[in-house]
Amino acid sequence: MSTYNLGKMQKKLKKYMDDGRYEHTLGVMYTAAALAMCYGEDIERAQVAGLLHDCAKCIPNEKKLKLCKQHGIPVSEIEKSSPYLLHASLGAYIAREKYDISDPEILSAIACHTTGKPDMTLLERIIFISDYIEPMRSKASNLPKIRRLAFEDLDLAVYMTLRDTLAYLETEKTALDHQTTVAYEYYRTLIEEREA
Ligand code: FE
Ligand code: FE
Repeated sequence: MSTYNLGKMQKKLKKYMDDGRYEHTLGVMYTAAALAMCYGEDIERAQVAGLLHDCAKCIPNEKKLKLCKQHGIPVSEIEKSSPYLLHASLGAYIAREKYDISDPEILSAIACHTTGKPDMTLLERIIFISDYIEPMRSKASNLPKIRRLAFEDLDLAVYMTLRDTLAYLETEKTALDHQTTVAYEYYRTLIEEREA
């Protein structure tokens, strides 16, 4: 018997998302399931985390800030100026309160999916990578390579994703959450030491 009602979750999510975001959400769910098969993570957990990772994405930015304030979710300076970043931590909150998710690993995978973080759990890495490589994505650099690597060497795929994300944010002059840099440094060292 399965623990979660994925169909019910999907119906509810669809109401809070535009079509493009919902398509992306399904893509992340399927990709996370495939990676879970590949690496021996619980498939249903991966599906749930994939489904809910962007559950707060379509909330208007002003409302994101307001909800965080209301519920005591910390807002950093960078998040104050780029509130879209908050959809990760606010998403974890909504997953817990509105979708009855109590599994702390699922919640943390949602909370760190945008920036990544050092020493991520298997589920956290699966969601982080699925968000980047799901089939609807098309713009990111090195996508074919990272898509293949994701199923061969998850840490290397995480490293390359963080590296390319930083490079992209650099050229776009987009707000960069310090967490992304911290995560990148961690995985760069990990890969370097592994290859030494
Ligand atoms: Fe997201
Ligand atoms: Fe996403």
